[in-house]
Amino acid sequence: MSGDPAELIAGVPSRLLIGGTWTDAAQGRTFAVENPATARKIASVADADASDASAALDAAVAAADHWAATPPRQRAEILRTAFDLLQDRRDDFALLMTLEMGKPLAESDAEVTYGGEFLRWFSEEAVRITGRYGVNPEGTGRTIVTRHPVGPCYLITPWNFPLAMATRKIAPALAAGCTVVVKPAELTPLTTLYLAQLMIDAGVPDGVLNVITTSAAKQTSASILTDPRLRKLSFTGSTPVGISLLKQAADQVLRTSMELGGNAPFLVFDDADLDEAVAGAMLAKFRNMGEACTAANRFLVQESVTEKFARRMADRAQELKVGDGTEPETRIGPLIEAKAIRKVQDLVNDARTRGARVVTGGETLDRAGYFYQPTVLRDVPAEAHLTSTEIFGPVVAITPFSDEDEAVRLANDTPYGLVSYVYTKSLARGQRMMERLETGMMGLNTGVISNA
Ligand code: NAP
Repeated sequence: MSGDPAELIAGVPSRLLIGGTWTDAAQGRTFAVENPATARKIASVADADASDASAALDAAVAAADHWAATPPRQRAEILRTAFDLLQDRRDDFALLMTLEMGKPLAESDAEVTYGGEFLRWFSEEAVRITGRYGVNPEGTGRTIVTRHPVGPCYLITPWNFPLAMATRKIAPALAAGCTVVVKPAELTPLTTLYLAQLMIDAGVPDGVLNVITTSAAKQTSASILTDPRLRKLSFTGSTPVGISLLKQAADQVLRTSMELGGNAPFLVFDDADLDEAVAGAMLAKFRNMGEACTAANRFLVQESVTEKFARRMADRAQELKVGDGTEPETRIGPLIEAKAIRKVQDLVNDARTRGARVVTGGETLDRAGYFYQPTVLRDVPAEAHLTSTEIFGPVVAITPFSDEDEAVRLANDTPYGLVSYVYTKSLARGQRMMERLETGMMGLNTGVISNA
């Protein structure tokens, strides 16, 4: 690889992958892909409509029986080869993600590691598909549970982790013997197209993996979701879209996997190691510019250490170099689009109006692209909109609490339950928090808990 963006993008497929063939959209339409660091177009890709989506599902259906009957060892080897190829093409994938999504190169490289792990993990799982054997309650018979591929799956991914969200869905489906149609986000289709080429190179047979890119997600998806041949929908994205898709899936009684939004509380107790808490908070907040479902959204800090914590976070935030993710010293890249900047600015303004104090930041950057200053707010009142909304930006919102009960009450005061973070030196308290916080995952004295 040359490291030259134009050369890299010229080598990325720009058409739909249907039945093993790169295909133009039926209407011949394309849409533009932009680099959020420059707000300039970097590529055009095929713009699928409902007929293209149906063709992709036709291909997935046609390949389903053969793929389901392919020996698990063979499926495992293909996924393992894909993992190896990804290591070989690591720098290309990292640069491509930075170009279409904006995250700093070092973080894109980390995503190659994270995303690759799904290929490796599920290559190992493909040959460990087990069942169950039991005695029925009457003692008159035996029950045998066996696992079968569910059949063609529709996989919809978001823009914030363009590689990892695709491998997290494709790898388990292929390992299980299912064929798939993948629809990446309109804002970041290139990484998925490049991944599809890699999967072909790894030996994925025609029709097993199909990719449609589109600027009309709803209409294009509808033709697949209403097709009785579809067996499963797997979606990662925002909660409102997830709710709408669950309703559509209900009409077909589809199996679904939903990975939706978050509003993670980050709790710092007065017995925490403050240096570690600040280091963890920096990761939990500023990784991916705050554009992660697992991003810390609300910092709940015990009153006696709020001042110190806010000051140290502000010092660290001011050190973060904001810029184009391709520049080596950049720590904070652009947000994904102009709309995202407006949303973050509105949330910060609302918090200010309600009494929050800006310790640092609080403004957009006056340059091309979609940049927002790393921001620290303190004394954020519970009524501020950013306590109930996914901020999805580099904004630390600190609210003080007096004791453990108040911390738990504030932390649980949300309909989201994806993840939480707790900093305390007390193991007993850490264990209590695991019981009391209503989240699916809890990081204890750590700011990152995503892994395969
Ligand atoms: P989004 O707007 O919900 O979009 C996600 C995907 O759904 C995109 O591919 C999008 O296509 C598609 N889509 C949108 N409306 C659709 C419809 N009516 N029918 C079918 N498909 C539709 O979310 P996003 O802004 O891309 O991603 C950020 C969200 O993802 C955040 O809420 C974040 O928390 C969540 N997320 C969750 C996890 C997790 O593991 N829980 C991981 C990462 C992200 P278009 O791009 O063309 O609109």
